[in-house]
Amino acid sequence: MSVAPPQARSAAPVSAGERRIALFGGTFDPIHVGHLAVARAAERRFHLDEIHFIPTGRPPHKHRRGMASYADRYAMVALACADHPRFIASLAESGPGHSGREVYYSVETVRHLKQKFHGTDTRLYFLLGADSFLHIPSWKDYETLLGLCDFIVASRPGFRVEALRLVIPPDLLARKGAEHGPLDPRAIILRRTSVFVLDTVSSHVSATEVRERLDRKESIHGLVPPRVEEYITKQALYR
Ligand code: ATP
Repeated sequence: MSVAPPQARSAAPVSAGERRIALFGGTFDPIHVGHLAVARAAERRFHLDEIHFIPTGRPPHKHRRGMASYADRYAMVALACADHPRFIASLAESGPGHSGREVYYSVETVRHLKQKFHGTDTRLYFLLGADSFLHIPSWKDYETLLGLCDFIVASRPGFRVEALRLVIPPDLLARKGAEHGPLDPRAIILRRTSVFVLDTVSSHVSATEVRERLDRKESIHGLVPPRVEEYITKQALYR
């Protein structure tokens, strides 16, 4: 029996007692208010019980000199999550000894967490920004990944939501009339999963802007949570 409140029913049906967890991976170099706005909007619209912020170890797609250490990026994520009861800083990609030196692929992390929550009536979502989703064809085993769990794609200024459909191979789409679920006109229904568009958020903030401002010795006040700003100052990061 569906017990979702009316506004959620069109986005994704919920079963009684089901726990809903979103996995929000990123470099978080550093975490900023745009990330938190996305997480809050997803929490509201999808009635999420937990959002796991997963700082990536060594990012497979972003190789940048001067990247903050895993320990610093994780610490900033933990500080940003401190005031939000449903936001959890996850060590899922910290690797052996929590060194953060290992490359993790999302397909492996999601598979691992799916196994971990197996049998616990948990529904997993993969939360990411539209810019990241448009690059998904370059991710390892992305066709498998798209079938592992539902996706929530947050709109980001400058990215067209209509473009999202174009990166999904047509043979992964559900056949007309064979759609399994949500009657959300903005959702893209795949054979086993759905891609939901989260367009109730629009933040221009990026980690690049935060780092560039720090490099120019400009204020980052309001771009990152106060505790993260304090941490960056104390540890003299991105200078
Ligand atoms: P950078 O500027 O270094 O590329 P970033 O700000 O995109 O970093 P990431 O840690 O790479 O931050 O992002 C993690 C996830 O959050 C990605 O899926 C990204 O698309 C999403 N994201 C980041 N900022 C925003 C934003 N302002 N609006 C929507 N999604 C965002």
